[in-house]
Amino acid sequence: MTKEKIEYYRKLGLKMTPQRLAILEYLEGNTSHPSAEDIFRHVEEKFPSMSFATVYNTLEALKERGLILELSIEPGKKRFDPNTEPHHHMICERCHKIFDVFEDFAVNLPEKYTKDFKVKRCEVVFYGLCKECQEKEV
Ligand SMILES: [Zn+2]
Ligand SMILES: [Zn+2]
Repeated sequence: MTKEKIEYYRKLGLKMTPQRLAILEYLEGNTSHPSAEDIFRHVEEKFPSMSFATVYNTLEALKERGLILELSIEPGKKRFDPNTEPHHHMICERCHKIFDVFEDFAVNLPEKYTKDFKVKRCEVVFYGLCKECQEKEV
């Protein structure tokens, strides 16, 4: 991670410990939508003494500052997305992989819903089977 980037996080009031840095590095450009457990398992390899609370607190701090999104696509499991641009998701119901959908498409709600409600944005989740799981299905 560049010095500028570290400085940027510091200015946002994030204390930058080596563990935190490792968490941020893991998240940077990560498109796998990891859970807190996934992040913990990864960073723990480098910092075996790190506690889960460190990961949890870091994720909370990042969320508060709008640097990551918390997704509740998978029931009972929070996943995190470092890409905070509005986008949609596809989730594989078998292997639980999440894919990004960066496409602007119209979701047309019947008028009975929109006459009293002004829709500003929407997030769509597509549930299905990924390519790998489809191949395994046959
Ligand atoms: Zn799959
Ligand atoms: Zn995403």
